Amino acid sequence: MAAPRRPETKELIRTLHSKRRRRRVTRLALTGSVAVAVLAAVIAGAVLAADRLGGTTQTTASVMAAVSTTVRSTTTSEAPPTTATTQQASTTTQSTPPTTSENAWLSGKVVAVDPGHQSRADYELEPIGPGSSTEKARVSSGTASPTTGTPESEVTLAVGLKLRDALEALGIEVVMTRTTQDVDVPNSERARIANEASADLAVRLHCDGATDESVHGLFTLYPASIKGWTDDIAAESKKAAQIVQDAVIAATGAKDRGTQERSDLTGFNWSDVPDILIEMGFMTNAAEDKLLESDRYQDKIVQGLVDGIVEYLKTKS
Ligand SMILES: [Zn+2]
Repeated sequence: MAAPRRPETKELIRTLHSKRRRRRVTRLALTGSVAVAVLAAVIAGAVLAADRLGGTTQTTASVMAAVSTTVRSTTTSEAPPTTATTQQASTTTQSTPPTTSENAWLSGKVVAVDPGHQSRADYELEPIGPGSSTEKARVSSGTASPTTGTPESEVTLAVGLKLRDALEALGIEVVMTRTTQDVDVPNSERARIANEASADLAVRLHCDGATDESVHGLFTLYPASIKGWTDDIAAESKKAAQIVQDAVIAATGAKDRGTQERSDLTGFNWSDVPDILIEMGFMTNAAEDKLLESDRYQDKIVQGLVDGIVEYLKTKS
């Protein structure tokens, strides 16, 4: 989808790409096999670092320290690896983006987009639902790529901003729970943002991690029906989850891990609007991680999300 992107979306994508460049530069320098490569790496690193710090000159040592790759350990995401109930994927009609006049019916629709996690976890506890004595961390750290060190929160934000731009291009009103990394927005608050906007659908974006690095694929979660919490949104959420799952599988060709209901997710239990959570892939699988961090594959995911969201909104109009 060639939706226009906002400046901050471009900026974020540029930042992500420059990080990858720095990591490549570091690897080159560390081999020390080609003197020219080392020199180029130092210069490139200095330029990048100086650019990042607004032109501040740095020593070679500090530049190299800045570009050294940090491999982050995989941590538990809010939705830990689970065996999704694989359901038979129904055929989803892939439509080309309709013209503006055909999109008129979308102008009153509201979609909440929640890019999972944030730059730093918030381990303060909050109840997993209204009046609950069970508590969980407000925002967990999420997973991360063992090879590039990229945290899940960067991928979810990149996809979230692209999704916002694509939905807005169709005339849909989009409410974001965050648009930068440096925020602290508890999961209950993310649900409240969607509730207050009376969103027709809340879409929460996540990536998964697993100890078994061969595990890959994509699945969608929806809230279990819990009396007083989610019994009013469970059926609609389940319907939306299946439609969006099918559309994103069609757009990406990812392994279909189906849909699954969950009763333990704070973001679901505080929600008063249909709510789904897409686990876009496993960052612990090298091949899928590479895709998840690529602009091109993120665009495919966004295409699938848009197709699925529009398809779901049709069922409500
Ligand atoms: Zn997550």
